[in-house]
Order: sequence, then C-alpha cells, then structure tokens
Amino acid sequence: MNISELKNSMDPKNVGREMYQLIVELYPICRSITGNGFRQTMEILRRYIPLQIHEVPSGTKVFDWVVPKEWNIKDAFVKNSKGEKIIDFQKSNLHVLNYSTPVKKAVSLKELKEHLFTLPDHPDWIPYKTSYYRENWGFCLSHQQFLTLEDEEYEVSIDSTLDSGSLTYGELYLQGEEENEILISCHGCHPSLANDNLSGVSLATFLAKLISSGSHRYSYRFLFIPGTIGAITWLALNEKKASSIKHGLVLTGVGDSGKITYKKSRRGDSDIDRAAAHVLKHSGDPHEIVDFYPYGYDERQYCSPGFNLPVGRLSRTPYGRYPEYHTSADNLDFVHAESLGDSYSKVLEILSLLGNNRTYLNLNPKCEPQLGRRGLYSSPGTNELALLWVLNFSDGHNTLLDICEKSAFEFASIQDAAYKLLKNGLLKLCLEK
Ligand SMILES: [Zn+2]
Repeated sequence: MNISELKNSMDPKNVGREMYQLIVELYPICRSITGNGFRQTMEILRRYIPLQIHEVPSGTKVFDWVVPKEWNIKDAFVKNSKGEKIIDFQKSNLHVLNYSTPVKKAVSLKELKEHLFTLPDHPDWIPYKTSYYRENWGFCLSHQQFLTLEDEEYEVSIDSTLDSGSLTYGELYLQGEEENEILISCHGCHPSLANDNLSGVSLATFLAKLISSGSHRYSYRFLFIPGTIGAITWLALNEKKASSIKHGLVLTGVGDSGKITYKKSRRGDSDIDRAAAHVLKHSGDPHEIVDFYPYGYDERQYCSPGFNLPVGRLSRTPYGRYPEYHTSADNLDFVHAESLGDSYSKVLEILSLLGNNRTYLNLNPKCEPQLGRRGLYSSPGTNELALLWVLNFSDGHNTLLDICEKSAFEFASIQDAAYKLLKNGLLKLCLEK
C-alpha cells in the first residue's frame, strides 16, 4: 500500500490514543540534550520503529559549535534546617536546572535564592530552565513555595555528572522508489514536558511506523535529535546527504487543543509550503500559515542560508503563544489524543500529496481529445472540468499541485482526473525535473 492507501486504512482517533499513551510512557524521563534520559527515550521508540542510534563524542566540532559534555543526574534536593526535603527531584525533574553541575553543600537563604527560578506570573507552576553552555547549578520551584522560604540554613544536593561522553540521536532511513528524501525532524531533549518535545516525538514515531509498512515514492529520513545542537550536529556530519532533502517538516507542539500553525520554509514557496497550505485550506479547519522567521525550533538550522532546505514546521499553538510553554503546566492534561490524531492525519495528507504530485504530458495536445468516445464525458464520478484543467496544463512543466492552484480544485479531484486520463492513454508521466 502507498501512503494514501495506508492513510485511508487508519483511524486517526485510534492512532491519537496510541500516540497519547506513548507520551504518557515517555513523560517521567529526565531528558536533556545528552545523557541517559535521551538514550532511554530512543530505546522505548525502538519498540515501535527500528531506529539507528548514533553517539557523537563530546568535543566534536560541528560547524561553529562543539558537542558538549554529557550530563546525567541521579537525584537532587534542597533540605531545610529540620532536614525536610522541600524541593525534590524525585517529585518532578523540572525542579532541577537542566545541566546543573554537581553540588553538595550548606547555603544561606541569600545564596540559595541566587540559584532559584520561579514564575511570578503563574505562581503555581514550576518553570523549565536550562544552562547547557554556562556551567551553573540551580533549582526551579513554584513562586508560591518560594515566598514561604524562611531565613535559615539549607542543604543543597545535586547528584549529577558532567563529563566527556557523547551526544545521542536516533535516525531512521526508509528507502523509497527515489533517492530524493523527505526529512521529518523532531526534538526530544526536554524532561517532563508533553507538548513541547514529546508530542512531536510521538507523531514522528507513528508516522515512521505507518510509512515503513508500505511503499513510498520518496525516501524518508526521520531524525529524533536534541534541539539546536542535534540539528547542527546532523547537518555538520551529513552535509552531502542534506542535498537529497526535497521536502521536510519539523514537528513539535502538535498535541494541544489549538488550531494548526504551519511555518513556511525560508524559501517561502517550496513544494512543502504549498502542499501544507493546500491541505490546510481544503481541510475546512481553522489554521494559520506564517512566514519563516529565524527563531523557533530546528527549522532555524535546516533553513540557515548555507543550507536553505525546503523545511517547514508544523505545530498547533506556536511556542511562546501559550503560557504553559516551558512550565510544569505543559503536562499530560495539556495534550489530547484527539489533537494528536488530527495532527497525524494532516501530516499524512501533506505527505501523500507530495508523493502524488507528479508532472504529466498531454499526448493529444492539438485541440481537446474527444472525451465522450472514451467514456469520460458525463460519466458518473467524473469531473469534466478537472479533466480539462489537467489536459490543458499537463505540458510537461506543471505539476498536479500547480494545476490545483490554477484551478482551485482540491488535489484529490485533480489526481483522480489525471489517473483517468492516464488510464485512457491521454497522458504520460514525466520524470522528476
Ligand atoms: Zn522547548
């Protein structure tokens, strides 16, 4: 089965529920841009798809960056003078500043406060903070709890290691009929955050699982990487392979209840941008399409001017536009099976369109062919207007998507018309330009 047939054989609601279950399983793990949390996450994904795991040593130069030391953590807490654990990593891994250096000492309230992070605007929530490239230690807590801290001596303990090791990432390459590739990239470097991070990981996993079960025109490359440094590392180590990427999507924030937002590639008019716009427009669901801007997720690296790859980003509510972003409120209640299933369905529709977006040549270009003689005129289930559009513009240059944009027809109608004309010997397939 090809992607369109596979898509039609699935119930996105059921898949959405399975995607949610995977998020539930991954949620408690303390991930970071390196370390065992990321590895453990990849091992769990390997139950679904045959991911290849790569380890890139600390200190490897990747363009202007260097792969950092590997961070691991066993435990962390702050105890008050009565010996009570008032901040406990075992209760939430967000309590520790991600990449905290090890520490074990007694501190005054004044010194402790220099290492505490809170969110005064959302006093019940714990912020998610990192310090990857500047060595520091710290704790994150609710502002409410922060206000109750008394002037006493505290014991701080972070049982972490920051040593030479490696950066881990997962990759799945699926050979298609063509060498040209579709890249699907997601980041999996955040600890207990559901929408930012795990929703994209879960969506990419279930897409890979489905696509690997059938046939596909394009080759597919799925990357499960730590944000920023992972994309930079992959691009630095695979510069040649990048030129095979004909279309790409960064997937993140696909599980909240907001409408879909598609961020265009830097090129702005690449096929992935046009395919996403077409699918979203004809879905009839609310959505938003935004131009490329040079911040956000890993599209920043794929669309840096030296690569300028046709890679867009699909999310629901964009990061920074929901207050739960990078806080303990981006939890299992913030993502929904229904939204995950809807994101899955829309991405598959985009991928299916790309696979079917062919260019044809009209073999009867001098005046219109007589459709009636071929049973293509006034026959049930045939849209004559779509036939005429395909015939006229199949000059070896226009793709089916080009014809959709000119005619305002939905892709399925134009594709159906092309299929019927092909069957009747009126079209021939042109090879990729
Ligand atoms: Zn994030």
